[in-house]
Amino acid sequence: MKISDKPFVETYDKLFIGGKWVEASSGNFMNIINPATEEVWAQVTEGLEADVDEAVKAARTAFDHGPWRKMSTYERAEILRKMAHLVQANAERLAKIETLEMGKPYHLALPEAKNHHQWWYYYAGIADKIHGETIPFEDNKHIFTIREPLGVIGAITAWNTPLTMTTMKLSMALATGNTVVLKPSESTPITALEIAKLTEKAGFPPGVINVVTGRGNNVGKRLASHMDVDKISFTGATNTGRKIVNYASSSNMKKVSLELGGKSPQIIFPDANLNAALESAVSNAFLLTGQSCTLGSRLLVHRDIYDRFVSKYLEKVKLITVGDPFTNVNLGPHAHEQQLNKTLEYIKIGQEEGATLAVGGGRPKDLQKGYYINPTVFVDVEPSMRIAKEEIFGPVVSIIPFSSEEEAVEIANNVSYGLTSGVWTKDMTRAIRMAKEIRAGSVWLNTFRYVRWVTPYGGYKASGWGKENGVEAIKDFTQVKTVVMDLEN
Ligand code: NAD
Repeated sequence: MKISDKPFVETYDKLFIGGKWVEASSGNFMNIINPATEEVWAQVTEGLEADVDEAVKAARTAFDHGPWRKMSTYERAEILRKMAHLVQANAERLAKIETLEMGKPYHLALPEAKNHHQWWYYYAGIADKIHGETIPFEDNKHIFTIREPLGVIGAITAWNTPLTMTTMKLSMALATGNTVVLKPSESTPITALEIAKLTEKAGFPPGVINVVTGRGNNVGKRLASHMDVDKISFTGATNTGRKIVNYASSSNMKKVSLELGGKSPQIIFPDANLNAALESAVSNAFLLTGQSCTLGSRLLVHRDIYDRFVSKYLEKVKLITVGDPFTNVNLGPHAHEQQLNKTLEYIKIGQEEGATLAVGGGRPKDLQKGYYINPTVFVDVEPSMRIAKEEIFGPVVSIIPFSSEEEAVEIANNVSYGLTSGVWTKDMTRAIRMAKEIRAGSVWLNTFRYVRWVTPYGGYKASGWGKENGVEAIKDFTQVKTVVMDLEN
């Protein structure tokens, strides 16, 4: 399908609060731009602080007085399973929206969307297995713990993978018995509204899920500062994460989990399966036009294979196709103009720093409209350069040579982030040593970007706090109450 077919041009003129579609207090709309054409393809109502207050009130009432928290866990699981069916049945529509919202190639968005129901099934399966413990200690005391939901969760998402983020945050928060106010990114809010429509059909009680579209500096800020929100589950930039922590600490000390930026290394040793490493080093750096926090944008290559590996790498990068995301291209556009400008600025910085620009470095000449950019590679990059340390979030790779395992670890760890990492080697003892030494939330050995509903995911250092996915996430969406009874009184 071509973009010119315009699968939808729609107006989303309501917020989803308390189980009803309601007008926003502002009466204003935000234009949603298709990054492939630079045209407005949808309009979304612009929420304000007063709308957040209404949504939090609805979520609080649903938590304190509604049926959700007290419902049997198997009934809750049944609703989550219905949601899984609905997400599966609507995968095509959700994938098209993601392509229109952020420019992800449709042929990649569709298989991913077809998998997203798995999160709902996984957490439906966990919903009736969350429990406390009894703690034997002294004979005259009965000690036990209750694992309880936190209450009202404020979920704030970034623009780069709207479907995945919405799915993860909602399925985890709801399976644990919380209620949610979701504030999607202002540039990709439609997925969240579509998911809200599905939650209505799935039978979640009113107020359990609320969606307020709007901007970060008012809607996001109000949610994170709200006295009646118990936790913020945030995905976005590290600098915004710092603000969220401030809002939380200066309001009600709500809990905060943060999925933030990354600058992840892919480390290649001479004894690796070099064909597989090469494939990964290309696809897992440029996918989604470099706009995924999990990607490996720093390529560390051992000096013994540096020239040969890098020359093959550059050949492969030159074959990457860029264009209309509704065709069979490898890369679509950047999701918005600011990100395009940021990437172009970093390419300039890399050149000024003295790195060698080996491929790319500009915009495709044959594409007149759209926020497109060519995949770009800098070689012989010094680990101290800004392009090697700072998150660009575009299709820009810095290749850095290394001579020893120790040096590779040193370079890998010498950034403020610690989200993901990958090591390619057939030496399994070295692989395990590296896995222990690298300071990142995920280490992938002879694979990369393996994030599924079962794999706990979350950063070290400035990449964030807490874990999403897996059973581990349950801890971040619940709290433990300790009950002690004296059996003699
Ligand atoms: P962003 O921080 O600008 O925005 C994220 C969300 O925060 C948006 O909904 C935005 O409206 C909101 N926001 C902005 N200012 C706010 C404020 N003052 N108070 C409350 N909310 C506010 O990030 P972005 O540009 O949307 O996303 C890109 C970033 O997200 C990158 O740094 C990327 O690495 C990161 N990211 C991390 C993960 C992860 O899992 N670690 C996943 C995806 C994206």
